[in-house]
Amino acid sequence: MAEKLIIARTAEEAIRAKTGENVYLAGGTEIMRLGSSVKSDAFVSLRKIPSMHEITAEAGNVCIGAACTFQEILDSDIVPCYLKEAAKFMASRTKRNMATIGGNIAIAGDDSFLLPTHIAVGAELVLKDLSGEERVSIIDFLSQTDKYKGKLIKSVCLPAGSISVKSSRSANTAQSHARLTACLALRDGQYSAAAAVKNSGIYKFSKLAAAMQEADPSEDDIIALVKADESITLQDDLLYGGADYRRYLIGITFALMYEELKGGRA
Ligand SMILES: Cc1cc2nc3c(=O)[nH]c(=O)nc-3n(C[C@H](O)[C@H](O)[C@H](O)COP(=O)(O)OP(=O)(O)OC[C@H]3O[C@@H](n4cnc5c(N)ncnc54)[C@H](O)[C@@H]3O)c2cc1C
Repeated sequence: MAEKLIIARTAEEAIRAKTGENVYLAGGTEIMRLGSSVKSDAFVSLRKIPSMHEITAEAGNVCIGAACTFQEILDSDIVPCYLKEAAKFMASRTKRNMATIGGNIAIAGDDSFLLPTHIAVGAELVLKDLSGEERVSIIDFLSQTDKYKGKLIKSVCLPAGSISVKSSRSANTAQSHARLTACLALRDGQYSAAAAVKNSGIYKFSKLAAAMQEADPSEDDIIALVKADESITLQDDLLYGGADYRRYLIGITFALMYEELKGGRA
């Protein structure tokens, strides 16, 4: 239960209110979840900051305010369809009405609905704290957690227009945590592949993407490449499947998406 709640009306107000003892509160679907990874009873709410609900088009990109809910993203006319495809992985409308894109990025879960898509398309984040504002790539944000810890994610910018993207999610049921969420993007002839693998991590598959570019690999080649990829650490998991099976699943998922992108069907 919250013991202290500050409701910010602007991003600047939120930043000034943020101390070492409180945390940002967006949709609250993770913070208020039983067994949540976020431990705090003091919050700075971002929900009432109008600018953080704006979605704007700028120079080939679409920038989405970090307090936009999954449903606001789905209802927008200018959000790229590929992000909507990933946002629909959150099956519950009730949760979509609350959960935000910024909260989803900040959690960086290995069952993330959106992170593989953000990584594959090369999303950038606008971050802000008392020292100022900066724009960083999603990969930098995820790989330098200490550096960016506690900063406000103000917005997320994604390419719109000439990019083909396919996302895929595998879970026991639509409401279950995903064992795999994967995304493959094709832009200017360059492939980019990323996946969130439950109880393992979030990966960018650079070798696989390079092979797609250079060698037009078959389904078997793609599966073999994933099976041989030593950067992925997987263990047998009672709930999400054996390590071998999950490597196969990652491979076949990318192989199917590759076929779709090659055939221009995404
Ligand atoms: C039953 C259930 C199942 C779920 N399954 C999944 C799942 O499969 N995959 C998945 O990805 N998520 C899952 N979630 C978690 C959650 O619903 C989503 O990740 C959601 O997008 C989190 O957004 P939020 O706005 O509710 O975040 P909050 O709960 O408000 O915040 C989460 C974290 O993000 C921080 N934060 C929020 N906004 C910002 C910001 N703008 N800048 C900096 N930090 C910020 C908060 O301080 C907190 O640490 C599940 C939740 C529930 C209850």
